[in-house]
Amino acid sequence: MNKKTIEKYKKILEEKEKQITKDLEQIAEKNRHIKGDYKARFPHIGTHQDENANEIADYESLLSTEQNIEVDLVAIKKALERIEKGTYGVCEKCGKEINQKRLDAFPEANFCIDCEKNKKK
Ligand SMILES: [Zn+2]
Repeated sequence: MNKKTIEKYKKILEEKEKQITKDLEQIAEKNRHIKGDYKARFPHIGTHQDENANEIADYESLLSTEQNIEVDLVAIKKALERIEKGTYGVCEKCGKEINQKRLDAFPEANFCIDCEKNKKK
């Protein structure tokens, strides 16, 4: 992959990272003890019993959203690290170049489409 193409993906990834970090900060707080870890905020709707039940339901959905975002963020950070190392766009499993169409749709991909399919089996 040439430098220009890598630069393009780097920009996309950096934009994505910014956006996702923003999303995450809306629903979660930074964990002061673990760098890069976030903790979902517990919503406070009210103190009545039915309100407490709503809070728990909200918190559970928030927690899964938060975890999904965190997984995405880690994948993006890893992709940016691979750009720095010069291994971006190469499948971590078989060492082949990842198809650019796949990278356009999923720039944080670390496996080629074949290895990704095999992983899910
Ligand atoms: Zn592969």
